[in-house]
Amino acid sequence: MKDEKETKEKEKEVEETTITILRLGHRTSRDKRVSTHLGLVARAFGADAILYCGEKDEKLVSSIKKVADSWGGNFSAEYCENPLKTIKEFKKNKGKTVHLTMYGEAHSSAVKKINKKNNLLIIVGGQKVPIEIYKESDYNISIGIQPHSEISALAIFLHDYFKGKELKRKFEGSKIVISPNPRGKAIKTVKKRTQSLKRKTNNC
Ligand code: SAM
Repeated sequence: MKDEKETKEKEKEVEETTITILRLGHRTSRDKRVSTHLGLVARAFGADAILYCGEKDEKLVSSIKKVADSWGGNFSAEYCENPLKTIKEFKKNKGKTVHLTMYGEAHSSAVKKINKKNNLLIIVGGQKVPIEIYKESDYNISIGIQPHSEISALAIFLHDYFKGKELKRKFEGSKIVISPNPRGKAIKTVKKRTQSLKRKTNNC
């Protein structure tokens, strides 16, 4: 009974905090697909927002917003000019920062140390990540010790952080709803977007 109460309280804490992804060094021509997929994974796996740094790319931001509009929820995408300034401001506002890098500490133990009462900024790179990012991050976390991708690293981190519950989350106000079906597509379209539940907005 006590355990059940504690679990429910912890779940409530997670619901009340926000998770923002900070994507470093976007290059309009080379990273178009990877950066779009990062936004889609962030949204589908329970994050609230993505901030893109590097080259300004209006098309990227609008394509993520389009998906969020059709598929529901309150996910947002924005451009971020100065990642270091954003990281410092985020920490000043009592948020915690996690940098995903193959050089960091093992995620299996690191994820347990993160206090779920804090808003989280998850930083992922593309090209070489400047040393200041390692120094400013509260946690440098590695998903295995082989190089792979910012998309897979983000998905695995969020899946562990939410303990798999993010995949059952409902996206309020969706215009399209899928019912799992072993033999084809079962899609329901809703003409009018219903009022979506407002989550707290992030502070950057
Ligand atoms: N040298 C990079 C590094 O520090 O992990 C690998 C570059 S990889 C092309 C781009 C991004 O993918 C990295 O900045 C990091 O965010 C993520 N990444 C790749 N492999 C990872 C791993 N094993 N663990 C965590 N993140 C990883």
